This record gives sequence, structure tokens and C-alpha cells, in this order.
Amino acid sequence: MPDIVIAGGGPAGASCALALARAGRSVTIVERAQFPRQKVCGEYLNASVLRALDDLGMGAAARGLGYALDGVRIVVAPLDPLELRFPEPALALERATLDSALLDAAVTAGARLVRGRAEDVVMEDGRVSGLAVRDERGDLTAIRARFAIGADGIGSLVARRLGLVQTARGKQRFALGGHYRGFGDLGGCVEMHVGQGAYFALNPLSGDRTNVMVVVARDRLAQWSATVNDGMRTEAARLAGGRRSFDGVEREGPRVSIGPLDFRVKRAWAPGALLAGDAAGFVNPFTGQGVELALRSGADAAATILAATGDASKEDALLAAYGGRRARELAVRRRSATFVNLLTDVPVLARRAAERLRRVPELNDALLAALGAGKTLEAPFVPWRLARLVL
Ligand SMILES: Cc1cc2nc3c(=O)[nH]c(=O)nc-3n(C[C@H](O)[C@H](O)[C@H](O)COP(=O)(O)OP(=O)(O)OC[C@H]3O[C@@H](n4cnc5c(N)ncnc54)[C@H](O)[C@@H]3O)c2cc1C
Repeated sequence: MPDIVIAGGGPAGASCALALARAGRSVTIVERAQFPRQKVCGEYLNASVLRALDDLGMGAAARGLGYALDGVRIVVAPLDPLELRFPEPALALERATLDSALLDAAVTAGARLVRGRAEDVVMEDGRVSGLAVRDERGDLTAIRARFAIGADGIGSLVARRLGLVQTARGKQRFALGGHYRGFGDLGGCVEMHVGQGAYFALNPLSGDRTNVMVVVARDRLAQWSATVNDGMRTEAARLAGGRRSFDGVEREGPRVSIGPLDFRVKRAWAPGALLAGDAAGFVNPFTGQGVELALRSGADAAATILAATGDASKEDALLAAYGGRRARELAVRRRSATFVNLLTDVPVLARRAAERLRRVPELNDALLAALGAGKTLEAPFVPWRLARLVL
């Protein structure tokens, strides 16, 4: 019986398994996908993600695999684009590459990888004591463990089975995109086109390959009467105000989509179990913070379990404290997302923000901090500075 069983081998699950395996714990990861697997993601790794990778001893390897980004170009049509330089370089790196490297590191450190789908939690005396897993042959078996971790992403099955999922509130947004060739040289910048209820992001991966993500509200998606491809192209051209279009651009690989982009939990723990990464709550992807949150929460979950195994009498208190840290972290980041949503939904506010960014340098710092690119602002202050962009 392993000490810990983890549902999901993405950044949250892999970073948690890596820390636990390095600490000498027996850990099993249950992952339903065959890696390398594609993940719907802007594939923008900000300086904070790179620091989190450094903490895992994987920063140098990641930098060697990705494409250095030195700024962000914000386009609020019809205004001229605004370019902000990152104080520290960020990285464009395909998730297929990053996630495989993280999972491989966990396995090399001693974690066991089981290919299969977690279908339920196993309960004993009101406490989680493992996962029920459907393996590749279709057989259902229980993997019992002292602790279980739900690192199974947005819509987490573990969170659902534990009754921890909160009803989503607010506008439902969907993301569509993929990898494309033909956008040309983006000059080392990630490019964000913002306004009118949607945004469109371009991230230069390598050579002429670009990650494209279009995020739209459900009502707009429903208006795409022709094909989704045409809808995406028209939306992108509208947001870019003629500066970018899909003309002459070719998709490489599948078009990917995900939504609704909202997932909240009542708390990120239950007796015997923790939730990490997106499974513990999802934040608007505009600011590209998900991978950092996944890595940091995976490491925090591992530290929490190491402490709890050292002193069983404090187990519930330690798990609850972890839940409190996750809730506070998400609350701060969601406050920033509230202002970002205002910018994408209300064109007049997007234009006002773009004009203020040109005039007031400290607002640039706030936006860079929200993008995980600036070191100058403490996280709790970021939402209030961002508010000055629009209010
Ligand atoms: C449109 C979009 C753009 C984004 N852009 C960025 C960006 O540019 N930068 C950034 O930092 N973040 C971005 N994010 C967020 C980021 O992708 C996530 O926050 C991050 O992937 C979370 O990692 P995770 O390990 O929690 O979950 P995931 O990466 O989703 O990994 C979960 C894993 O669990 C597996 N799994 C799921 N269910 C089961 C099950 N029942 N049994 C077994 N295995 C299971 C899945 O196969 C998957 O491998 C974006 C997200 C979206 C939606």
C-alpha cells in the first residue's frame, strides 16, 4: 500500500509526487492520459513559474526547452499597441514538453505511475483511504493509501466525489485554440488582443509556430453560426482591429477547446485528502498563473502530508490549514481576475485602461505583477492597483 495516491499527473500532481518521492515516501500517480499529452493552455510561463521550477531543480532544463519572452504587447483596437517589457524573462514552452519533463522527474525520483482513470474515492470510517481506479484493461481496482490527492484538473472528479464542488457563478467563458504557423515574428512578445467580451492571445513557441487562444463568453460562442473555425477567425480579426488575421495561417495539430472556464470548491481538503492545482479552484487564464499555482500547491500539499504523517494528532488541523492557504491565495488572484474580466467585457474600460497604462508607469507594474512578471508588488496589493486601471 503506497503512503499517498495522486489522481492526475499534470504540474500539480507531478510536483507533489516529486517532493514526496524525494522525501522517501511511496507515492502512486494515477494518470488517464498517455504522455506527452496536449493541454489547452496559452503555454506562457511567467517569471514566477520559472522560480517555482527553479525550486524543483527544473528551471534550467525548462529554459533550455522553451523560447524566451521579454515582454507583452497589449492591443485594444483601434488604439496603437502598447508594449511592456518584463523585468525578468518569461518563457513560451509547450505543455506537452513541460508536463512530460515534470512527470518523468517524479518517476525518476521513485513515484509509481499507473495508467488509468480515477473513478471514485475509497472511504473508510468517514475518511478517504484511497482511489478506485479503472485501468487500461477496463478493470476497476482500489488503490488504498494513507492519503489521497486530487490533482485531476478543472472539473476534478475527486472534488466532485467528495461533494466539495461549488456551483459556478457569473459569465461562462470558453477557450479555443491550438498551434498555428504563419503569424510571423512576434518580436519576443506574448500578444494580447482585448475587448468586446473576448480576448485573443498569441504566444510565440519556436520558429514560426504560435500558440493561439481565443476566449469568448458562451453567448458569443452560440452566435458562431458557421463553423467554429470561421467563428474563431472572425472573432480574432475583430479583436485585432485589422492588425492580425488568420489569412494565410495554418493550424498544426488539433484545435483544442475547454469550458466553462470556472471551477470552485468549498474547501481544498477532506479527512485523508487534499486538492491541488486546478482541482482546488480555477482562475481566469488571462494572467497565466495556473501553472505556478499548480506547482506551488503541489509542493504545499506534499509538505502538508509530510507534516501530517509526522504527527497524526494534528492531521486534520494541518489539512485544514492547507485548505485555508489555498482559499486565501485564490481569493487574491480572483480579485485581479475581476478587473481583467471588466477589461475584456466593457470596451470603454479596456480603452481607458490602455490609455492610463501609457500615462502612469506604476500601473504598468501592477499589470506586470498580475501577469506574474514583476517582483515589485506584494500579491495582495495587485488587485487594488489594477482597479485604478478601470475605475
Ligand atoms: C485556455 C487556457 C489557457 C491557459 N493559459 C495558461 C498560461 O498561459 N500559463 C499558465 O501558467 N497557465 C495557463 N492556464 C492554466 C493551466 O493550464 C492550469 O492551471 C494547469 O494546467 C493546472 O495544472 P494541474 O496539474 O492542476 O491540472 P492539469 O494540467 O489539467 O493536469 C491534470 C491531469 O489530470 C489528469 N486527469 C484528469 N482526470 C483524471 C482522472 N479522473 N483520473 C486520472 N487522471 C486524470 C489529466 O489527464 C491531466 O493530465 C490556462 C488554462 C486555460 C484553460
